This record gives sequence, C-alpha cells and structure tokens, in this order.
Amino acid sequence: MARQEYALMLLRSCYGYDSFRGQQWDIISHTLDGGDSIVLMPTSGGKSLCYQIPGLMSEDGFAIVISPLLALMNDQIDALQQNGVPALALNSEKTDNENRQTVELLMQGKVKLLYISPEKLLSEIDRWSSSITEKICLFAVDEAHCISQWGHDFRPEYTQLGALKQRFPEVPVMALTATADRITRDDIAKQLHIPDAKLFISSFDRPNISLNVVQGSTGRQKFRQIVQFINLHRNESGIIYCLRRKDTEKMATELTRLGIQAEPFHAGMSVSEKQRIQRAFVNDDLKVVCATIAFGMGIDKSNVRYVIHSNMPRNIESYYQEIGRAGRDGLPADALLFYNYGDMVTLQQFALQSGQAQVNMDKLRRMQQFAESGVCRRRILLNYFNERYDHDCHNCDVCDNPPERFDGTRLAQMALSAIKRTDEQVAMYTVTDILRGWRKADIAEKGYDRLKTFGVGRDFTMAEWNAYLLQMLQMGLFDVAYDENNHLKITEYGTEVLYGRQQIQLNRFERRDFSARKPAAAQAELPITPTGEKQMDSALFEKLRDLRKALAKASHIAPYMVFSDKSLTAMATEKPTTQAEFGIVYGVGQAKCEKYWRPFTAAIREHLEKRK
Ligand code: ADP
Ligand code: ZN
Repeated sequence: MARQEYALMLLRSCYGYDSFRGQQWDIISHTLDGGDSIVLMPTSGGKSLCYQIPGLMSEDGFAIVISPLLALMNDQIDALQQNGVPALALNSEKTDNENRQTVELLMQGKVKLLYISPEKLLSEIDRWSSSITEKICLFAVDEAHCISQWGHDFRPEYTQLGALKQRFPEVPVMALTATADRITRDDIAKQLHIPDAKLFISSFDRPNISLNVVQGSTGRQKFRQIVQFINLHRNESGIIYCLRRKDTEKMATELTRLGIQAEPFHAGMSVSEKQRIQRAFVNDDLKVVCATIAFGMGIDKSNVRYVIHSNMPRNIESYYQEIGRAGRDGLPADALLFYNYGDMVTLQQFALQSGQAQVNMDKLRRMQQFAESGVCRRRILLNYFNERYDHDCHNCDVCDNPPERFDGTRLAQMALSAIKRTDEQVAMYTVTDILRGWRKADIAEKGYDRLKTFGVGRDFTMAEWNAYLLQMLQMGLFDVAYDENNHLKITEYGTEVLYGRQQIQLNRFERRDFSARKPAAAQAELPITPTGEKQMDSALFEKLRDLRKALAKASHIAPYMVFSDKSLTAMATEKPTTQAEFGIVYGVGQAKCEKYWRPFTAAIREHLEKRK
C-alpha cells in the first residue's frame, strides 16, 4: 500500500477522521523521509497527529514524545488508549515495576507512542539496550518553546534535550509549539541542534471563534449582559476571566444566586480546591468557571463553548491565548470582551508600575486598538502576529454589524464644555453624571448642578455617554491626567472642536443583545451526505450528551474523551442506527465504534421511534 494511503487508513481506523488537515501530511511525510522539523501551529491546530501517525506507521518501532506537563501527558494517553492506540508513559508518578513493564513492552514492539517527561528522558535511554534504542523512529518535542530562554516558559529540564540529536543523529526530531516568535524559533533549532530543520508555519487563525467586544458597559449593566449571554448558552461550558481574585468570587456568587452553576478559580486557592474545580469543569459537572488568568493551563477540554473577558486583558498575547481555550473541537464558539474606561485606567496603572513601563504601555495600546476597532477584528488580531490576513472574516461583531458613523460634533461639544466649566477638575464618570443631570452628593457639593451644561445630555443613556466619551478620548479630544486623580484635560484638538473650528465623526453606539449563536451544525464542517439537507436534531444532541456523560462516569474518564462535541453533532445530524453507519461518523474510529455503537445507536433509535 502506498505510504499516504496507509496513513489515511490509520487516520480513519484510529481516529475516525477522513483527511489530513492543513500541513499535517506534509509534516508527516517529511518526518518519514527522516527530516527534522519545527512545527508552529495554534492550539487545537492538530499538532498531536503529526507525531502520532509516524509512530503508528513504524513497523515495530515507536515514537518518543517529550511533554512537560504530567496532567496533559496522562490526558493524551487516556485519549489514545480510548482510540485503541498502544501508548504509555514513563514518568516519576509511575512505580519502578510499572516502568519495568513499559520497557519490556517496548522491547516486544508493542508500544507505538512513549511519552516521557524531559528530566527522565536521558537517564531512561541510558539504561536501554541497543535493541530498544534502535526502535526509536522519532523524537517529538512538544511545547518546544520551553527550551528557549527567550520563550515565556523556559524550563531548565528542556536544555538536556540538546543531546538527543548528537546521540541519535539518524532519528528525526520534530519540535512543536503554539507560540514562537522568530527569536524563539531560531533558538529552538540551535538548542536542539537541528539547524536544517524544515519550518512548518500554520495560520494562527481560529476561524470558529466568533470575536465580540462590548464597549462601555460597567457594573450592574455588564453583569446583566453576562447573565443574558449565559442564559442563551445554558447547557454549555464557559470561562469568565476577571482581573482580580475578589471579582471572580463575586461573579461566581452572584451567578449562583441566579441559578447559574459557577465557581471561582484563582491562585489564592488551595491546590485541592483548584483540582476539584478543574475536575468538575472537565467532567461537565460544572458549567461556568470565573477565573483569573491562572485557569486554563494544563486543561485540555475541547468543548468550552465561550470565553468571556469581564475585564480587558493587558495585551493581545494574553487575549489570544485565553480565547484559544474555547472551541478546541472546531465547533462554533464565542469570545466576548467587555471593555470600558475604568479597566483602561487600572491597566494603565499596572503597566506604568511594572518594570517595563514602555513595552507594557505599548502592548496595552495595541489591545485597546483591537477593542475599539472599526475594522474586522480578526484582521487586527492576525496582523498583530505578523500574519497576512487581507479579507474580512464575517465572524466578528464589526463584520456582522459595521458601525454607523454620524456627525458627533455637538455631542463632543457638550462633553468638552462640561469639562471646561469644571476647570478640568473632573474624571470621566463625573462628566457623565453632569451631562445626565444626576444630582449626586459630590456633584451638588461642588456646585456642578448649577453649571449651564448640567443635564444637557439627558437624551443619551449612561452607556451611550460612556461609549462616546471613550471614543473622544481615543480621538485625542482630551487626555487623562493619571497623576491628578484621572481628571480630564482638554487638548488643543479638543479646543478646536469645542469652538466649532473642527468637526468629528463618531461610531453610533449600539445596544448589544445576545442572540443565540446559529446551531452548531450549521457551521461545522460536517460531511454533507448526497441526500443533503440533513439537520442537526438538538433534542437528540442533548440526549447523546447525557449518554456520553454517563458512559464517561462509568469508565472514569472525561466526557470529551468518549466523543467530542463535534462527533455528537455529527451523530445528531446523521442519526446512524447501525454499527456500519455509526462507524463512519466523524471521530468514530474502530476501537470506539466497537465500544460504543450499541448504546449510541440504541439511544438514536429510541429517539427516532418516539418522534414517529
Ligand atoms: P494541538 O495539539 O495542536 O492543540 P490537537 O492535536 O489536540 O491540537 O487537535 C485538536 C483537535 O482536532 C483534536 O480533537 C483532534 O482530534 C482534531 N483533529 C486533528 N487533526 C484532525 C484531522 N485531520 N481531521 C479532523 N480532526 C482533527
Ligand atoms: Zn471580522
């Protein structure tokens, strides 16, 4: 059988997929030819297949996978074993006896993939006889940026890996990472001694994640919008990122009070508490986690359907990494970012106080440009990562709803005049209160309620004023004096506008309502059957999801390891009722077909019967 056909056969029988994605086959075939490679792919791009398939294809050899996180290693092995792939791990969690057994199986050629933590690798190999070492067909270095001091996650254990190429010059090395700028990338090649490695760079776009930004909402209003959004995604899993620990707690408590199951997660909690929450989330027992940035590392849950940023992240790198935790199964997912002036002030203070004020302020500004963008957000995101993306994405709020422009001169004059009449001694929120004519204690105290501008902006809501003032700030009509209680100071340009010598355009504020996403199946790349027109049955999907959960519980694995949401969607669309039909569904390989066809087809038949 030709090499590629054999690989495709394995892809179908082990994973239940019909074709390679993007550069996967090129990478695999380069490896089979003995070449070294550096593979840059975004999270969930499909890196693992690139090294797993060569391992599976080797006759009685095996591939070694070096991976830094024990939890992820165990996850991958569980998932592989579910697919009937002989994969094992050697690490410090195993007993000597288990490790001896593993080595025995390697000798017999019964293992195709061996996962090892970096610190164990060399000491293990030193103990192996040549009859084992000559079976090694590939060294795959996952999270390869960990080898570089320039990367953001340097791990000293990784430096030992440099010895591999010298000891085994014949064995190809594949370095994989989801984050690498040019410097890190060059450093990976240097440290691993693979100067001739072929570079495979995939697009970092995650087209299934819809990008949305809500401007100006604060406090209760923001909370109401979050609740509204979650209510439309009731049965789905999501993460809400907050800036501070106490916000995660408050958010979780208030959501729980409204009957939405939610828990906080942050670095101040005990290890056991954090583990409990992660486990509940992965097992679909807990729908919403309100987290600081500490959450998400080392969990590999593929059916996170949305990520909400209750506060703006400090830079685009964090934002991209955090939204990347949604939609790993490739089905539609939402990223929702709340952006308001208060966050900007806080983040600016963080940046200024950080050791690298200049760099961090620049990064924050880029993040702000993303949030305020009037052009397709995906363009901004990918351009930031130096990727050429020259069309509109049609899956972001700007593309869906291009902002309407209007002459905002009169509005700006109201605001500027209010600032001027207070002798530039007020911050943004007080300006809103004055314009809206709100007789709060501190306003009356200062006599601002007697100003000519008091209440002239009543026709606009607070949210509208917040959004427009933000735009005016961004346009440079006034500055914020961070060293003077954040008072607003009118610029020269602002003065021009105030006296009518310049006109300005604003983007019309739109109240966001969160209509439910299109049904997942409509956007998923599912095989279209010749009869066409098959629709996903969402009631059936719910039933299959419950079944999946019960089966996962019984075998003590996470639900997404039984089948991904994408496979369930395919089942609820194709509605297979026989073993043969079940066996060709997306994500159903041989092992899973044998294990699961009975309960799933039975549930589908029962569902179809009832509907007759
Ligand atoms: P990464 O390691 O790059 O984060 P994974 O290897 O975990 O990504 O792949 C992400 C998801 O995509 C997994 O559910 C995987 O099974 C699926 N996948 C990978 N390659 C293919 C393919 N060729 N066809 C369909 N699904 C694929
Ligand atoms: Zn777009």
